[in-house]
Amino acid sequence: MTAVPPFIRHGPAAGALPLVLDSPHSGEHYPDDFDHIPPRAVVRQAEDTHVARLYRAAPDTGATLIEATFPRAYIDANRSLADLDSTLLADGWPDPVTPSRKTEQGIGLVWRIARGGAPMYDRKLTADEVQRRIDRCYLPYHAALAAEIDALHRAFGAVWHINCHSMPAVGDANADDPGRERADFVLGDRDGTTCEPAFTDLVARTVRGMGYTVAVNDPYKGVELVRRHGRPAENRHSLQIELNRRLYMDEATLEPNAGFAPVEQDLARLVTIIAGALRGRTAT
Ligand SMILES: [Zn+2]
Repeated sequence: MTAVPPFIRHGPAAGALPLVLDSPHSGEHYPDDFDHIPPRAVVRQAEDTHVARLYRAAPDTGATLIEATFPRAYIDANRSLADLDSTLLADGWPDPVTPSRKTEQGIGLVWRIARGGAPMYDRKLTADEVQRRIDRCYLPYHAALAAEIDALHRAFGAVWHINCHSMPAVGDANADDPGRERADFVLGDRDGTTCEPAFTDLVARTVRGMGYTVAVNDPYKGVELVRRHGRPAENRHSLQIELNRRLYMDEATLEPNAGFAPVEQDLARLVTIIAGALRGRTAT
């Protein structure tokens, strides 16, 4: 495997704000030992391709952006370590596993299938190689994000985290909403448990004002990253944003479409508005 760091940190270009964005699924560096069976183009459908690029102006406002470089189908940073499919393994796993609905769907910590349902591997994985993926990719990514959020919380007494994703325009056969057209934006705060309602409302109102359709917690509520970092009672607010891929790319080829630049500009405006609101609240 070539030595590609598991994440890239884009630090604030202006005075730092207690605002952290992370893009856990836009990594495009496929490690040499990822011997998936379906063609790369099919496996890449798992990615949130371009999502980190779409938010690249965020650090100009004082936010910090952390992006994963490893592919989501290799090891999924937005799953708990216990959400492991033991049928993938050739041997036992040393820790208890608690497979979630995501593992049932084949898309747990290590994906069993590619989009469309084809098996990802023609062999079992060893516990050692799964542990290596955790050690080289998952843990450093989580540690970097947690360090950033904790440091800002210490400095400001409050922190806001936006967990950035993308979604297919229509739920596929394997999703919880097969065949359904998704809104332009789906915000997830795990039914109001991971951030203050005012933050979800600010984001919803702002993007609606730009002309987009918005759904909240339907069909995506947020998974491991907002669950881990969202503790509103401690002034730690964490919101997931799912962007509809057809707004900015051809979903089959992953090529940006004519919508890419306007969406990028709208997201820059969104982050600027959020930054302005937070600057007002955290001013000393
Ligand atoms: Zn995602």
